[in-house]
Amino acid sequence: MNELSFDCDERLHGIGLCDLHCDTLLEMAQHQADFYDNSLHLGFDRVHAFSYFLQVMAIWSNTRLSDDDCYAQFLSATAYMKERLCAHPEITQCRCGEDVKRVKAQNGKGFILAVEGGNLLSEDVSRLDEIYARGVRFFTLVWGGESRMGGAHDVGGGLSPFGVKALKRMFALGIVPDVSHASKEIFYQTAAYADDAGKPFVATHSNSAAVWNHTRCLTDEQFRMIRDSGGIVGVSFCTPHLGDTAKEITIGTVVDHIEHYLSLGGEKTVCFGGDLDGIGSMPTPMTGVESLPLYYEEMAKRGFGDDLIYNIFCGNAQTFFEKNL
Ligand SMILES: [Zn+2]
Repeated sequence: MNELSFDCDERLHGIGLCDLHCDTLLEMAQHQADFYDNSLHLGFDRVHAFSYFLQVMAIWSNTRLSDDDCYAQFLSATAYMKERLCAHPEITQCRCGEDVKRVKAQNGKGFILAVEGGNLLSEDVSRLDEIYARGVRFFTLVWGGESRMGGAHDVGGGLSPFGVKALKRMFALGIVPDVSHASKEIFYQTAAYADDAGKPFVATHSNSAAVWNHTRCLTDEQFRMIRDSGGIVGVSFCTPHLGDTAKEITIGTVVDHIEHYLSLGGEKTVCFGGDLDGIGSMPTPMTGVESLPLYYEEMAKRGFGDDLIYNIFCGNAQTFFEKNL
């Protein structure tokens, strides 16, 4: 351990890490890898700098697979999760606010299950009841291209009639819809249905379009609408969504996105949603989840107060989980 990370460990005492999105679970299941001691971006043995750890773990519906194969992959990934992750005495699968409170109180480690991309539903809304029963609490409506749910950010287009039906069922069940990857049309439809339902919606891994204009990023208006619904927004480490990759993307670039969200009144909204194990490259000098303490350094250097840093690392997400799961 080098001197810098030692200093961070000391000063981070008392700060937890809550992250809104990673693809680690599917990677693990596909490679039969361990949740500790692995070579992926995220291992549960590499978060010791933080007082507690809560990770939203998504299972992606690969658009190259058939709908039923996506569903089969979801079922096998959750079986692997149950066998290897839930069986670990140190790790809690959080299904409700009480679970996340307990993880925090016990300085423990926990995860919340999510789905990324709606193809696995295959126009069968009852599958939502099954995935809810398995613990899914966040649902990224679309991922890329056209799907049965509707169009993603890269193609545009609103929710399909099935997409509307599924969205309404999510609100009824208590699954939080996630507009990361959504088209503009789906974003505004989700905002309207959330308003009707009196429920929040979120963007688990979306950066600021004002800092770097990419179709995966949120406009200032979109950010404010999520905030006003009571939702949260996770900033990701996906370099093409952060800036010009012909130049160096650093931890400072990520904090530029965070600072912009803060300038919009986002101090209770902005979180991390790193997209670890879902991204090809990370900002310099990150190597994985063990690099998160470097963000503390950068934020402290920019004069962020202790409470603000705490809220970005864990407080905002924790409050949301306690209130809405
Ligand atoms: Zn994603």
